[in-house]
Amino acid sequence: MAAASTFTLANGTALACLVCRNDTFTRHAYKLQTTGMTLLNLDWANDDATCLVCASCGFIHWFDR
Ligand SMILES: [Zn+2]
Repeated sequence: MAAASTFTLANGTALACLVCRNDTFTRHAYKLQTTGMTLLNLDWANDDATCLVCASCGFIHWFDR
């Protein structure tokens, strides 16, 4: 598992957990599985999302870039 660290968003904001206000996260890239695209057999159209998981409470923060 990746070591937890702080992250600064593209707009310059230092990320803090929405739930517990912790400021350290582990970074993951998860597939955005959109049901419509999967039904149409267009899985290639699904993008990766950047997911920052709170190191304290585990809340997942999703970003589309
Ligand atoms: Zn948290």
